[in-house]
Amino acid sequence: MTLYDYDLFVIGGGSGGVRASRMAAATGARVALAEEYRMGGTCVIRGCIPKKLLVYASQFSENMKDAAGYGWDFGDAKFDWPTLIANKDKEIARLEGLYTKNVLAAGATIIQDRAVFEDPHTLRLLNSGKTVTAEKILIATGNHPTREMGTSHVIPGGNLCITSDEAFHLKQLPKRILIAGGGYIALEFAHIFHGLGAHVSLIYRGQKPLRGFDDDLRDAVCDSMQARGLEVLLGSEFTKLEKRGDRLHAETNKGGMIDCDQIMLAIGRMPNTMALHVEKAGVELGMRGEVKVDDYSRTSAAHIYAVGDVTDRVQLTPVAIHEAMCFVETAFKDNPTKPDYLNIPSAVFSTPEIATVGLSEEKARLRGHNIDVYKSSFRPLLHTLGGREVRTMMKLVVDAATDKVLGCHIFGDHAAEIIQIVAVALKMRATKKDFDSTMALHPTAAEELVTMRQKSYSKTP
Ligand SMILES: Cc1cc2nc3c(=O)[nH]c(=O)nc-3n(C[C@H](O)[C@H](O)[C@H](O)COP(=O)(O)OP(=O)(O)OC[C@H]3O[C@@H](n4cnc5c(N)ncnc54)[C@H](O)[C@@H]3O)c2cc1C
Repeated sequence: MTLYDYDLFVIGGGSGGVRASRMAAATGARVALAEEYRMGGTCVIRGCIPKKLLVYASQFSENMKDAAGYGWDFGDAKFDWPTLIANKDKEIARLEGLYTKNVLAAGATIIQDRAVFEDPHTLRLLNSGKTVTAEKILIATGNHPTREMGTSHVIPGGNLCITSDEAFHLKQLPKRILIAGGGYIALEFAHIFHGLGAHVSLIYRGQKPLRGFDDDLRDAVCDSMQARGLEVLLGSEFTKLEKRGDRLHAETNKGGMIDCDQIMLAIGRMPNTMALHVEKAGVELGMRGEVKVDDYSRTSAAHIYAVGDVTDRVQLTPVAIHEAMCFVETAFKDNPTKPDYLNIPSAVFSTPEIATVGLSEEKARLRGHNIDVYKSSFRPLLHTLGGREVRTMMKLVVDAATDKVLGCHIFGDHAAEIIQIVAVALKMRATKKDFDSTMALHPTAAEELVTMRQKSYSKTP
């Protein structure tokens, strides 16, 4: 006789929770998953997927401009926001259905409810009021956009602003929008709204957006945004936000005054552990409210694990999925497996894109490498007839002693598609010589990566 209702109870039906429940159920375990909102979680409902659909929508305006140089005339092109949002919502609902179907097909039970801890093995389902017990529990509750700068500074008037959650459901396209933040979500939405025709200002308190990315990428995207007509306000923050009639009024520490239709905060995300009552289960939280875990995603309670954004490690969908798969190996297959965080590729879906894998020039030097840098900046073939002054930048950071490629950084069209495959090469510990001995595929932008013979410069740590 089993002591508990389930072998595994998963809290959260997002990228991590869905993968863990499917894989654990496939081992024969009795699995239940609670989701309080919509199956698929942030990535599917209000993150990666809807965002990329909006990115595609935003790029048609530039594509149409480029097309003129190729002989096309589309006449008076018009864009309709409600059509885009309705079509996006239809696709998201389809994906949500697929996620639900796949979890059920794996033999797991889905409970549409909010689950909170009652004791180390018991969860209360808030809507139904019922309790369930489980031998093992996985916390995969994700995170949410914050309206606070740092840990304490609440933005004055921050409640007037939207976050990315609401941006996906605006009734109409703002004519003028102010976006606060310097991370990838802020930059992506700045490009989305700009491409769709809004006047966009980006306000960021740091000196350059995209902290942690290679400096050349950060400079390239800043220059490109300004050249495209986006207003970029660096070293700036709000001192006042207020509603004036139908519009919003913002004032900055640099004396700037901006009137706009919407203000979007993309200033960070906080783990979803509020009112989860993890203390009743002996689960420790970190300073930001993240669930503290060991190398195997195990919390301070031995039978409770946590994966994905709620642990505040690397906040990306493939990482949450990888952590979930390692968790199932560890907890259900008697094969303790640590997630591997080396060489995680990542992208910013700006226009054009940024994509990166491995060490930035700055990080490579901080880690004590003597480096050789190979850099190339060129006008992509598309834009020769297209006519716009757009440039692509590619950069390889190479360890001078071993010739190993430590990092690859691209700013240009299709950068993310290219970097995914470069990540395979880095995983295989490719050297610059391996890149050089690879046959180029012509005419492409990516061929530049295997034809950069001339070292741009060398640097010591
Ligand atoms: C705008 C945006 C764009 C993004 N773009 C990308 C991208 O391009 N590429 C990329 O890799 N990543 C991207 N991400 C990040 C990615 O979405 C997350 O890293 C990923 O979704 C994390 O998965 P998760 O399982 O940890 O959490 P989530 O997917 O957030 O899932 C957590 C789920 O738990 C549910 N939940 C919370 N508390 C409870 C509770 N007590 N009971 C029941 N259910 C609960 C929530 O409703 C949610 O559905 C983006 C994120 C955002 C916000």
